[in-house]
Amino acid sequence: MRYLQIRRTLYSLTGKWPKTSAIERTKEIERHWIPKLLDEHEKYEIDPENNNKEKMYVLPMFPYPSGRLHMGHVRVYTLSDTLARYYRLRGHRVIHCMGWDAFGLPAENAAFERSEEPIEWTKKNIAYMKQQIKQLACSFDWKRATTCDPNYYKWTQYIFLMLYREGLVYQKKAAVNWDPVDQTVLADEQIDEAGRSWRSGSIVEKKFLKQWFIRTRAFTQTAFYSTKTPYKPPSAALDLPPPPPEYDLVCAQIFTRHGSRALEGRKYDTLTKALWIQAKEENALTELGRQFGNDLQYFVDVNDQIGRGELSELGKHEQQGLAHRVAERLLPLFIKSLLRNESKSIQVVSSNKSRTKASLRAFVEGLPPSVVRLVDHQPPNPSLLFFHDNARYQTYLKNDRRLKNKLKSIERQSYSKQMARDILEQLYRPSFIDKLVDKQYCLTDHESDRSIRNEFDAVRMLHALYLIGSNLEQEGVGCLFEKYFSKNQSAWYAYLQDAKDYYEKGPGFLNQTITYDMAQILLDEFLVDSDECSQIDAKHFLRVRFGHAEGIIPFIALLKIPILSDKQTPPKEIYTYANNGWRGEIISPMSANIQWEIFRYHPRHHGRNSRPEDEKILSLVDNLDTLDKDDWQTLINIQRMWMGDCNGVNIQFKLKIPTNEFDFLETFTTKPETLLNVTHLYIRSNHKLARADLIEETKAGAKRLRTDAVHPLTGQPLPIFINDDADFGPKIRANMSMLNVQIGTPSTNPFDEAFARQHNISTILDSSAPGQTMDVETLMAELRSRGLGGYRTSGKLNDWCISRQRYWGTPIPMIHCKNCGVVPVPENELPVQLPPIENIKSSSRTGTSPLANAHEWLKTQCPKCGNQEAKRETDTMDTFVDSSWYFLRYLDNENTKKPFEPNIVNQSMPVDLYIGGLEHALTHLFVARFIQHFMYSKGLCTSIEPFKRFIPIGMVQGKTYKTLSGQYVRKDQVLTIDKDTTAHSLTKEPLQINWEKMSKSKYNGIDPEEIIDKYGVDFTRMLMLSFVHPRSLRNFTLEDGIAEGLQNWFKLFTYLYVDLIEPRTKSDTKSSINHEEFQQIEASLREQRLHTIYTVSFYIDSFFSIASAIIELQKLTRHLRKVSADVKKQSKEYSQSLCDLLVMMAPVIPCLSSELWIILQKQMKTNIDGYDLTKSLFEQKFPTLPVDYPGKINALFETTVFSSMPISRSQLATMTTADVLQHLIENDKQSEMKAFIAKNGLKLDRSRKLGDYCTTLIYERDPTIPYVEPIEPIVEKKKNKPPKKKPTS
Ligand SMILES: [Zn+2]
Repeated sequence: MRYLQIRRTLYSLTGKWPKTSAIERTKEIERHWIPKLLDEHEKYEIDPENNNKEKMYVLPMFPYPSGRLHMGHVRVYTLSDTLARYYRLRGHRVIHCMGWDAFGLPAENAAFERSEEPIEWTKKNIAYMKQQIKQLACSFDWKRATTCDPNYYKWTQYIFLMLYREGLVYQKKAAVNWDPVDQTVLADEQIDEAGRSWRSGSIVEKKFLKQWFIRTRAFTQTAFYSTKTPYKPPSAALDLPPPPPEYDLVCAQIFTRHGSRALEGRKYDTLTKALWIQAKEENALTELGRQFGNDLQYFVDVNDQIGRGELSELGKHEQQGLAHRVAERLLPLFIKSLLRNESKSIQVVSSNKSRTKASLRAFVEGLPPSVVRLVDHQPPNPSLLFFHDNARYQTYLKNDRRLKNKLKSIERQSYSKQMARDILEQLYRPSFIDKLVDKQYCLTDHESDRSIRNEFDAVRMLHALYLIGSNLEQEGVGCLFEKYFSKNQSAWYAYLQDAKDYYEKGPGFLNQTITYDMAQILLDEFLVDSDECSQIDAKHFLRVRFGHAEGIIPFIALLKIPILSDKQTPPKEIYTYANNGWRGEIISPMSANIQWEIFRYHPRHHGRNSRPEDEKILSLVDNLDTLDKDDWQTLINIQRMWMGDCNGVNIQFKLKIPTNEFDFLETFTTKPETLLNVTHLYIRSNHKLARADLIEETKAGAKRLRTDAVHPLTGQPLPIFINDDADFGPKIRANMSMLNVQIGTPSTNPFDEAFARQHNISTILDSSAPGQTMDVETLMAELRSRGLGGYRTSGKLNDWCISRQRYWGTPIPMIHCKNCGVVPVPENELPVQLPPIENIKSSSRTGTSPLANAHEWLKTQCPKCGNQEAKRETDTMDTFVDSSWYFLRYLDNENTKKPFEPNIVNQSMPVDLYIGGLEHALTHLFVARFIQHFMYSKGLCTSIEPFKRFIPIGMVQGKTYKTLSGQYVRKDQVLTIDKDTTAHSLTKEPLQINWEKMSKSKYNGIDPEEIIDKYGVDFTRMLMLSFVHPRSLRNFTLEDGIAEGLQNWFKLFTYLYVDLIEPRTKSDTKSSINHEEFQQIEASLREQRLHTIYTVSFYIDSFFSIASAIIELQKLTRHLRKVSADVKKQSKEYSQSLCDLLVMMAPVIPCLSSELWIILQKQMKTNIDGYDLTKSLFEQKFPTLPVDYPGKINALFETTVFSSMPISRSQLATMTTADVLQHLIENDKQSEMKAFIAKNGLKLDRSRKLGDYCTTLIYERDPTIPYVEPIEPIVEKKKNKPPKKKPTS
């Protein structure tokens, strides 16, 4: 900013109001106060007192360091700063951070065009823009995140790898949107309706590249139930892959543990109860201990009711779920078997224990009814499925000293001892536990030969109840015992349980094979049976065995699955999660099932596609309902529209002769049930395949492709026609390839029928086609099993492609090895740093990343096999990945161990107010929500949504002048004829006037520095915040008189305070008004002041409408201006008003307010209620309403308050929404409110409470009542009526 060097003349320095011109004074005030205000803010940041305050996380979207601030930035940051200052004055701990979204294209272009290092270009811009934001007196915490800093992108890579491990990142070759100008891939969302790039504006093309995608789907959660972990459908990472390309599924072998069940015998509960009774008799129960007695009794009753060892409801559901998944997975085999009219092709067998027999029954119940006749019940086989009953093994368990000592040493670590005590102390008094530790009790259950002799035994029993509880969820136990274990404790005991299982049943000691040996019988059976059922004339294709965890664990150990189960531990070491992958993050063999599938080579299959997904999206859609409607409505609508309803199915049709670009055509249909009636396909004439060399003309004059498509179910050839008249469905976005393909179904669609007749397309279907009787679900399952689509999707949403063929982005931390395929970079090698640009010869601009030329960087060692010729991934991430989690990093930005510490972050999350452009509402907010959902699912964040309220900021537009031929004209060439008429100054051609987004090419931009230079900082802030609601478009000009009006107000406002120094109007020493009149004026001043406090708070708290608040404050200013000099002299209310007004104005115009506050400090002779005049302005508190000032209840529809009434605040504070509603209706004397509600067909939607001073009932149209008529507000404007609505633009 340029300032003239002038003499110091400020009042705050000299005690005299300077006689300089207004603009000189303004500049000097700002030069003096801005550094002070920013310093003061730094002190605020580290004030320990903040920890006791309620948090308020105010977050403006962080900027891209493009070089200079534009008016849109100024609008966002001044609003954000004003709100931050407001909430600080209101006593909140405000978190207000700033960082930089610093990767991206312009820096890279600068680098390659001007051989300037992107980092240098970026740093330079950051320095300049930071100085500009500071110049606006914006009080940010600057010690935060910059996305191009390796200390930040290290953790972006780390999060990418987290997603990868969860199976949420994958790579596929795909048609991508290619921006030929920027030479980069774009997401669908970055293309406008006309098919142009959002950045370069060029028409987007399709290109085929191998890309990285982030998958949006259901997450897994960690549980602490060891072998008792209830089954869940396989997690994303575990999802069975489709058969390898060109292979067919032949048969499957399954060994499953039985479902969740009740306690088997009476050992744990009986002994625990005996201990409890002992404690009760000794009067040694704590309060929680007494409750535990009830819980225990309830648990015993539930178990007795189910029957000991019998399946719980959950157990049955688990087995039915397994049946569903098996049926879906093996559908082709089921169908084949049904079509061949076979029987007994699914063999089932149990161990003969009641729970395995019940599991078998539940499994069969879960199969589709049509296949039940295929089930072949084999005689139970205990020697195969209950093999752990053998004598040698049981002797080992009971007598092996090495085993016993190991388990004892694990369980009785000193840590464990303290933890056992901590757990028991919740239930029993310390003296009782002392005796237990002293082995003074010995409680034995003779039936099971178990006993409680010490604290370890006691907790082990208790923990067993906790584990079994999780299996009895639907019987009402579930988490009943969770309150007796903290998260740490349950995790520790889960570990002890796992360690016990590991040594007793699993891999155990190095070179110890007793567990493996006993499972060999089962492995032999798997092999023999696989051989049998993979024969061409095999009778059965599936064998399902129902066994026990005691069998599963040794069996998996025996299979020696790499990484997972081939992990024995030397006797001197101890098994832990850290040194052994046996209980991995992804799979735990201790609670798994085994499904073993045999494939046969069959060359007709190829080109399977990875699945698009809908589950996660659904939850992101569903969760939109939880967002605050007032702020989020626009966004909810946009996101819903974007994600769409998952109302159809995607289907892939293979091409008989694949081209270089396409193996298949993909389409989306809302009528999948018609799939069997499809006889031909249409593609649009703009489809990539509609090329002259691929097209031929039919006799009837239609254009068709030389190759046919293949029906995904029947294998029938389907001709493909080029026809734009077919119904391609609503056009959602340009370049949506799946909407460029449509199916033709003559039997259900008249257009298709006519077309088929005209072009002689055979409408007779192959009658032997499988699945003609299939329902839609079966059809979809069949498509999925063939890798040809079959997913419910919205037809809109694709997986998120994050690959960018650019240099200046976060490197994707992957390595390509010719032996191992794609291998993630080990975490301890992060970050993968960008190489310096001088090592990169040139950007080839052929669609590969410039990083492909960084030869030294490119070559690396494979972390898996050590291959020295492995290569790094050369794509970098889309910057939307960088910005998807910065709000988390802000809160713990110096963490060198992980992206953030959950305990720290969760103290401040979620963001309370998110402020930014609506243009980011789609992509950025979707990706940020996705990452937050992910973090939540991993237990790293406690809030599922990242942002509580969102203020979408409307665009700032400038006036444009255009010739009739569409050419923009510079302002100095515009000739103004009258208010609405202009012409070109040279050609005299008439010009069109419009408001458009500010842009250099339209000559309608305004540089913020220009305005600051002309009017000062405070004025610029106020200009940006006045007149329109933050959401509205801001048509910005300095020529509409608004600036002059504001300047007048500034003068009025300033002189309210300057007059305190030397009153300009001298009055008689004796007052001319009498006491009564004076009292009336005082009362009116008070009313006006309190009304202003009320309305200002209401506007900001409800709508964040600083503009409406400013109008109220301007009114108060004018009101105070009219007060006569002799009233001023004696009026306490006047002084109070001056203080209140200044503090309320301070967030908007911090510099001038600070200077005027010095006047109050020096001139106020008496103390003013609520203020400490010895302290600075921003150490004051925002004025509050006195307790006797009535609160208000408002009833609001759209933006109209249609009913309103005062109520005492103490009463309001304790009222529920129902009470408020009741009060409003009871006091609705003229029944105006009822009439309004009836007339407009409204119903109460929600209520919003603002402090203790106002509750608003928000009504919406009742969809069950037919639409009536446009509303007419019933309440006419009255004086002091409650604030009505947001200002108009
Ligand atoms: Zn390798």
